[in-house]
Amino acid sequence: MSARRLPSHVWHPFTQMRGFEHEDAPVIESGDGAWLVDAAGRRYIDAVSSLWCNVHGHRHPRIDAAVQEQLGRIAHTTMLGLSHPGGEELARRLVAIAPGARAGQPGPLTRVFYSDSGSTAVEVALKMAFQYWQQAPDRQPSRTSFVCLENAYHGDTVGSVSVGGIDLFHSLYKPLLFDAHRVPAGDAAALDRVLARHADEVAAVIVEPLVQGAAGMLVQPPGYLRLVRDLCAAHDVFLVCDEVATGLGRTGTMFACEREDVVPDFLCLAKGLSGGYMPLAATLASERVYEGFLGEHDELKTFFHGHTYTGNPLACAAALATLEVFEEEHTLEILQDRIALLGQLLADLVEPLPRVREVRRVGFMCGIELEAYEPSLRMGHQVTLEARRRGVIVRPLGDVVVLMPPLSIRPEELEELVEVVADSIAAATGSGAVEALAA
Ligand code: PMP
Repeated sequence: MSARRLPSHVWHPFTQMRGFEHEDAPVIESGDGAWLVDAAGRRYIDAVSSLWCNVHGHRHPRIDAAVQEQLGRIAHTTMLGLSHPGGEELARRLVAIAPGARAGQPGPLTRVFYSDSGSTAVEVALKMAFQYWQQAPDRQPSRTSFVCLENAYHGDTVGSVSVGGIDLFHSLYKPLLFDAHRVPAGDAAALDRVLARHADEVAAVIVEPLVQGAAGMLVQPPGYLRLVRDLCAAHDVFLVCDEVATGLGRTGTMFACEREDVVPDFLCLAKGLSGGYMPLAATLASERVYEGFLGEHDELKTFFHGHTYTGNPLACAAALATLEVFEEEHTLEILQDRIALLGQLLADLVEPLPRVREVRRVGFMCGIELEAYEPSLRMGHQVTLEARRRGVIVRPLGDVVVLMPPLSIRPEELEELVEVVADSIAAATGSGAVEALAA
């Protein structure tokens, strides 16, 4: 069974199920390093890191061993009213490497609230920011709304969709959502205007720093994030940086915020936090925020939020091992040459293709935008099918082909990947498709 077995009862995420069963989507049974292996033994390069989360490769011996060792102790125990060593140690390590930390000493981000996904990491930050202004010593209860960027994506739960800006995914749900002010990414003057007019009602500004991933890898101009930070400080509005996609080395530094020397009030992490092994998320918050929640029981300042698997010990063990591998294997140093190689390969093989409109990239986050085709052609998807036949797994965002391989991918694998993707784009957009270009 290399493909999906019929009939299947699985309803797949972000997937139009009509017709899907005839597409023979591979059933992945195992993996190693940058490779996925299907049930028939076919090998594919995992060019999207299993939805942007794998960091050091599949079945990394160090991370496997850490999870197995934890399994020998306990698989799960709650963080509600109890703690466990892995969760404690991971929180210590995270605050020691978070933006603003110096020489292993915590900076302004001192507190770690665990949850399970990128969406929940964002929900937590939004609810904390909101609640802070309702009850902290310097409370301003009128601060109940948020500012987000146009084309933002922060997850699929109702709160994170409320600060989203991708009409295709979000507009239908409008009646369910709370209002947010949307400003164009890259336009600091627009943010300044909104904050000047509405600061007394805004709890926080939320951004994906440097790159808006799900929007199609839209890259912000250098210096923009710094300006956002300064504007938030000037208006005393919290800044939430959603590093669910950009964090854990993806852009070439551990966190994208570091690139502009920015320390947010909230930092959202998920995806690569557990090395791509297990659902784990963390919302880091400043001491000021934390203290806003301290009080007597009957003051009801508690943060009333927590999921069953919050801070799961197996996931924390995977995350600790992931951070250790960053140090032991000098991942970020080694990555710099691979980032340069990826840039070179894209320039040589992909940018010259006639139907490629633009290649956008920061580090190992890359989007290849094709010419505008009729949506019904699903050209991005055609590229996916061509690549799959050639042994590479990609998943597009509309007509943007995303490349986000594991940071550990070897140079020769990276070469194979980009060659296959270039061939697949050429094949999918070849003669027959050219006439179907949208006017
Ligand atoms: N924030 C960003 C920036 C993301 O890219 C994503 C997922 N692609 C999320 C949040 C949501 O994460 P999850 O799918 O784990 O809920």
